[in-house]
Amino acid sequence: MARSSAIPMALPPPYTSSGTRGFSIRTNPENFCTTAELLIGPKRTRFLLHTSLLVNQSPYFRAALTGSFLESTNQAIELPDISVEVFELCVNWLYTNNIDPTPFKDGKPAYYTLLHLYIVADRLCFEGLRNAITDLIADLADKTNSVLTPSDTRILYDQIGDEAPLRKLILDLFAFKKTDKLLQMHEDRWHAGFLRDLCVLLKRPCEQSMQRHCLRMWIPESWHATRACDNCRAILPPRAGAVGCDECCLAWCIGCFGDGVGLAGWEDGRGNREDTAQEMDASGRGAEGGDERREFVKVSRKVRKWESCKPWRGSRCTVYHEHKETEACADVFSGR
Ligand SMILES: [Zn+2]
Ligand SMILES: [Zn+2]
Ligand SMILES: [Zn+2]
Repeated sequence: MARSSAIPMALPPPYTSSGTRGFSIRTNPENFCTTAELLIGPKRTRFLLHTSLLVNQSPYFRAALTGSFLESTNQAIELPDISVEVFELCVNWLYTNNIDPTPFKDGKPAYYTLLHLYIVADRLCFEGLRNAITDLIADLADKTNSVLTPSDTRILYDQIGDEAPLRKLILDLFAFKKTDKLLQMHEDRWHAGFLRDLCVLLKRPCEQSMQRHCLRMWIPESWHATRACDNCRAILPPRAGAVGCDECCLAWCIGCFGDGVGLAGWEDGRGNREDTAQEMDASGRGAEGGDERREFVKVSRKVRKWESCKPWRGSRCTVYHEHKETEACADVFSGR
């Protein structure tokens, strides 16, 4: 196959900043003159919220509060099947642009609460909140080295639509993190649809596998300094154009880069024995062992852990965000 060795003119977009672009609620005091009454949950708990915030963030409330529906005349909306606790997180996000407090249970991220919040955000058409939940789940999964539990995957597949980009993130978390033992050993049942999608993702080239990197043109100076293409394994010849990642030091030939796809480069522990000490736990921190094991963890942390680039860090906005209603996140150059 003839592949051009010309250096491509257009490199993929750089890293994107995490999170949804903030919105200012303090700019116009007149926006705070009208409130809408919401009656949430079976006990009809009363919330008085500023109409401008609801209308700005959600086409659902735009229709309900400014349209000719009945609800717009008396300004009260009843949502009896939404939990008050979950709705409070929604309100906090509306006013502060944060999901606060971050739901934890027994020191572990309560992903199920965030999934329920996502269901509410979907129903009430808060696109910005959906993106914020996606960001928070990605950050929590990294910070606490955890992923969803089997029952969480059942919520994800039974109650959240298959078009939701959140599904893509969850699948990527399992595909790109070291989750083999967890999948194998967990005593509870993973959702069958989730397992099927995960198999397909691991077998099939995907775009986020390339987009996760911080790519730049790279010309190896000598045979000593070169590497093999991470996709096709061809040795990249000196003084010929290739593409490399600044963060994880992988490289690709121009042909593979041009295809723009690769297989999920999941962490399998190769070249990094210390990984065994950091085996992960569903929805928790690294598994806690006895004293002996803890000692091992302490020692191994001195060694810099090899980590591949992850799509939820390198291409978060392109892969997992929705921006039909909200402004796209700003591109931020990362260390270049
Ligand atoms: Zn990389
Ligand atoms: Zn290649
Ligand atoms: Zn975005």
